[in-house]
Amino acid sequence: MQEAGAANGSCNLDAVIIGAGMAGLCALHQVRKLNMSVKVLEGGSDLGGTWFWNRYPGCRCDIDSVEYSYSFDNELQQEWSWSERYAAQPEILAYMNWVAKKLNLRSDMEFNTWIKSTHFDEGSETWAVTTDTGEVITCRYLIMATGCLSAPKKIDIKGTDNFAGETYYTYKWPHEGVDFTGKRVAIVGAGSSAIQAIPLIAKEASELKVFMRTANYSVPLQNCPTDKEYEADYKKRYSEVRKMQRQTFGGFVNVGGVPRMPRTDSALDATPEEREAEFEYRWESGGLCYYTSYADLAVNINANNHLSDFIRKKIRNKIDDPRLRDLLTPTEFPALTKRLCADTGYYETYNLDHVDIVNLKETPIEEITEMGILVGGEVMEFDCIVFATGFDAVTGALNNMDIRGRGGVALKDTWADGPSTYLGLMTTGFPNLFNVAGPGSTASLTHAIPCDEHQVELVIACIERVEAANAKSIEPIQAAEDLWTQHVNDVANMTLFPRAERANSWYLGANVPGKACKPLLYLGGFDQYVKKIDEVIDNDFEGFALSQMGN
Ligand code: NAP
Repeated sequence: MQEAGAANGSCNLDAVIIGAGMAGLCALHQVRKLNMSVKVLEGGSDLGGTWFWNRYPGCRCDIDSVEYSYSFDNELQQEWSWSERYAAQPEILAYMNWVAKKLNLRSDMEFNTWIKSTHFDEGSETWAVTTDTGEVITCRYLIMATGCLSAPKKIDIKGTDNFAGETYYTYKWPHEGVDFTGKRVAIVGAGSSAIQAIPLIAKEASELKVFMRTANYSVPLQNCPTDKEYEADYKKRYSEVRKMQRQTFGGFVNVGGVPRMPRTDSALDATPEEREAEFEYRWESGGLCYYTSYADLAVNINANNHLSDFIRKKIRNKIDDPRLRDLLTPTEFPALTKRLCADTGYYETYNLDHVDIVNLKETPIEEITEMGILVGGEVMEFDCIVFATGFDAVTGALNNMDIRGRGGVALKDTWADGPSTYLGLMTTGFPNLFNVAGPGSTASLTHAIPCDEHQVELVIACIERVEAANAKSIEPIQAAEDLWTQHVNDVANMTLFPRAERANSWYLGANVPGKACKPLLYLGGFDQYVKKIDEVIDNDFEGFALSQMGN
């Protein structure tokens, strides 16, 4: 192991972790156990990742808080207590700060440090990480914990700099908050972020216009304060719950607050009455639990049609105005094939007189002007514009850095036609570079924390393998990477997820103009992914190659 320390202006470490979100904190804790010198470099001014940046009104988790915590340390999950069934952003950030304090993580973190490039040196088999201040840090192992939904999608609307009023972005909300009282507000986008923000912005604004292109399926969160007795009982079941999480497609198990394994039967084998009762039960239970309902909802269009129709009917029942009812009814893709949204009072907000939709399918935004937004040849004037336009998901944060592997080859070029990885973790030609929750893993298709924890376990296993063999590095064999990438594509084609391409699904990269439209995530589910990794490790790291010292 190398010693940490400054030498000739550069710092030599065993490992560098980029990103201080959920994955980065977990990775730091686990790498430290290897007795290695390690540092986390983070662009933000503090830790938290997603939960540091996304502070818009209404921002909260869509996974039950009792499930939304680290499992790697039983003391942590037993001690922390959540105030609501679905924690809001400030509480999740407080949790992360509490974890960092308990584990003394801050001493190995550097903030306000954006990474410009990471270049692999074939002679020394080390990575040189260059920061925005020009500092170069060298390390053997480079762990990308940069997040799947962290790099914003570049706003592809003409004239965004022209607006003289206030402009906000949900992905980097002002820390001091925003007072919309009495203001005329436009929000561009109607995805998960907008759906959470709209009800709260509408409470303050004098006028709120939602510039919407595609209607989404949103189900009620059914949020409520945490019942202390329930929480105490739940904590007794953690070892069982954590095992169950790894045996499910989505990495979460609660239905109405109760851990339950996913159904394994088909929606098509149920009677109409049974199906209706099942969907109604899930609606009342709240949140994303449709993902653990009938086994064929995301693979069989006839099964899916029953669910999509059910949610459409529920949405329509909530909206008074026939025009808004039609606009908000999702028709362009099957439910679940874009991440299901979950809300508190979203559709009801459209029954308020001062809230309206501008249908961008009929009148696209022509440009942003000094006074507002030009649509249909007329400027609609606003005091504030909020962009909730989404992310360059999964690959965006990685491609924003100049990552170069063997032979100076850029990762971005290697992935020009879509990402290629082995197990969603590594790419051939980029030794010792680990992408936690990278493309080809289940990443944010699933509950992020179990997925991050599991991937960090794999990173640690790989590092231990290198160290035990007294080797220099590990990387995938090209054939293994090709097979996995093909498998990721084949599995996607067996599901209904590709049908959301025309609804600009970020799962496919279809929301970013010019981005290769390929499945970014492994749609086989977390359970299948965990099984595959276990097999690979049991088969002596099948598909990976080690580079020996002196080679
Ligand atoms: P998103 O789901 O990608 O939604 C972006 C919205 O902006 C869409 O309505 C999109 O319309 C619209 N848009 C993009 N470019 C546009 C343009 N040029 N003109 C007009 N409209 C435009 O992004 P998000 O809402 O930030 O959510 C992304 C993901 O983050 C979610 O799927 C979820 O995984 C996660 N998230 C989770 C939560 C939670 O509940 N915990 C909250 C927020 C986010 P089109 O659909 O027509 O392209």
